[in-house]
Amino acid sequence: MSLMFDPETAVYPFPPKPARLSVDEKQHYREKIKRLLKERDAVMVAHYYTDPEIQALAEETGGCISDSLEMARFGSNHSASTLLVAGVRFMGETAKILSPEKTVLMPTLQAECSLDLGCPIEEFNRFCDSHPDRTVVVYANTSAAVKARADWVVTSSIAVELIEHLDSLGEKIIWAPDRHLGRYVTRQTDADVLCWQGACIVHDEFKTQALQRMKALYPQAAVLVHPESPQAIVDLADAVGSTSQLIQAAQSLPHPQMIVATDRGIFYKMQQACPDKELLEAPTAGEGASCRSCAHCPWMAMNGLKAIADGLEQGGSQHEIHVDEALRQAALIPLNRMLSFAADLKLKVKGNA
Ligand code: SF4
Repeated sequence: MSLMFDPETAVYPFPPKPARLSVDEKQHYREKIKRLLKERDAVMVAHYYTDPEIQALAEETGGCISDSLEMARFGSNHSASTLLVAGVRFMGETAKILSPEKTVLMPTLQAECSLDLGCPIEEFNRFCDSHPDRTVVVYANTSAAVKARADWVVTSSIAVELIEHLDSLGEKIIWAPDRHLGRYVTRQTDADVLCWQGACIVHDEFKTQALQRMKALYPQAAVLVHPESPQAIVDLADAVGSTSQLIQAAQSLPHPQMIVATDRGIFYKMQQACPDKELLEAPTAGEGASCRSCAHCPWMAMNGLKAIADGLEQGGSQHEIHVDEALRQAALIPLNRMLSFAADLKLKVKGNA
């Protein structure tokens, strides 16, 4: 276990909250974005954790709303010459790694991720160097440099399957950066996994006792949990999975209510998938208390309408993603491994269905 990074004491550079827009201003920016998307031959690729109005706009303009694996796939397969990535910076970098010929723009390059920030390349290199016998598996929420160091990139939607696969080959594993997801896949697979100690500030904050009280208050509700949450929260879950897997679980579980322990941005697509069900936010410490995210990622919240319009209109050093070519090629290898593993897995799942 690494002593190099401690998420309990980490101080993150949180951005200020974006200014609220009036109804007229929102309409103005929506129209402007639609026009700029056409002019720039651009498509919007939005993450499930962005605000509902951003997801709605991506949907309306023929873009996509998805988890990081699907965002990567969609961006590289789409014919547009410019991708507007509404998410956090590693998602823009991943899009650029897969689509170097495209211009990749972001509403802001300041949209960070505590998992990415918590895994600096110099420290991670030292960690890997001290365990040269281990296969290095990193979560998608990492910088291009960390991906380039890895043997595999993985997302939460296929993490258990990939670790199971590597374990079946007798490989010992380094997992980074999320400690909770690392512990979750270790328990699911019994593999020999050495975990980096990063954490997501959103999922790290769900509160066990408050969730137990909420379950008692809503006895008919199912609890849906993202595996980046602490073990005590995972233990209370009826379903554990990635964002897309949680949306599927909300659809298929018979419960009339869902208590959802992940970023509340997911409610937009989840409510579309099961309009008759009541969706409830799992409890955090709450605004004004010790809560650092309150179930909504402060960096995802930077993807506002004005910032998207600025990104499309201005491009340049404030908005365009660049990845060094040698780094890009090195990071592409473990990313492509993930995509082809995911494609094989899909075929297998279809074959078994
Ligand atoms: S929700 Fe967590 S994992 Fe996702 S971008 Fe924000 S800090 Fe990173």
